[in-house]
Amino acid sequence: MFPDDAACARYLETIRWPDGFACPKCGVCGEPYRFATRSSVVLRCRACKANTSLTAGTVMQSSHTPLSTWFWGAYLMTTQVPGQSAVQFQRQLALSRYETAFQILHKLRAGMVRPERDAIGGEHPVEVDECLVGGETRGEGRGTHHKSIVVGAVEVRSRQDDGKKRARRVYAGRLRLRVVSDRGSNALNGFVKDNVALGSVLRTDGWTGYPGLTEAGYRHEALTLGGDPEKAEAHLPMIHLVFSNLKTWIKGTHHSRIEPKHLQAYLNEYVFRFNRRFYPMTAFHSVLGIAARSVPPTYAQLYSGEWEHAA
Ligand SMILES: [Zn+2]
Repeated sequence: MFPDDAACARYLETIRWPDGFACPKCGVCGEPYRFATRSSVVLRCRACKANTSLTAGTVMQSSHTPLSTWFWGAYLMTTQVPGQSAVQFQRQLALSRYETAFQILHKLRAGMVRPERDAIGGEHPVEVDECLVGGETRGEGRGTHHKSIVVGAVEVRSRQDDGKKRARRVYAGRLRLRVVSDRGSNALNGFVKDNVALGSVLRTDGWTGYPGLTEAGYRHEALTLGGDPEKAEAHLPMIHLVFSNLKTWIKGTHHSRIEPKHLQAYLNEYVFRFNRRFYPMTAFHSVLGIAARSVPPTYAQLYSGEWEHAA
């Protein structure tokens, strides 16, 4: 879709003015003059001569980095399964300076930490559990120090029965992750109430940190596991799979070197990609700060083959 900077500029223009340019200053519609600048394109109104930058209001505003580099960064960050470290990114785009790579990723990441306020669950059952992540304890004996507690909730969605034989009848829906200071009921129940819709079916283990959820209005299915890992696997398969993949990502891409104070930001990045994995174009627009809502579905469908209304 984006072979060069000009293609990126045309795309930005079409996103912003799907029905053709209209001057933000005087409102006159009609073909503008176009000036290529070092990193973007400026449109000049033929009526009032006002200039409008194509990147105004996006993450690319005031940047000297070419549009195609930004687009590559957004593409790699939203579609690569493991995400990108700045070093990998710099190498992949042949950027001369590490700082440029770091800044681009940093700005794109800012488009990911948008708070997700919608409650998950509702018609879909939700699995909730905790895990420990990060923190090498090697050489210091066994223990959980230096590790952070992460509590997660994931929807269990059912596939439409289309008559085909499939290995799994269910798949993971939306995900929420939060770093908590302890496994007390305040921390765990607080997380559930902030993220899961009242009335949802809630599956947890029998841990004492989850009391009172039935009284709070959930259909709580707690399993007393008696320390049997196989039972836990059968009762909470989806959230365990999420935790396993999360740990692989932290180990693989980030070599377990995430400071506890930054962990929530990385969890947000992980959740962002996870929840949009079927809608990479939506994720791409979000991190670039492009107002995708103004794009008519026909345009997006034409190029990407998929469309999702504002999430
Ligand atoms: Zn004008």
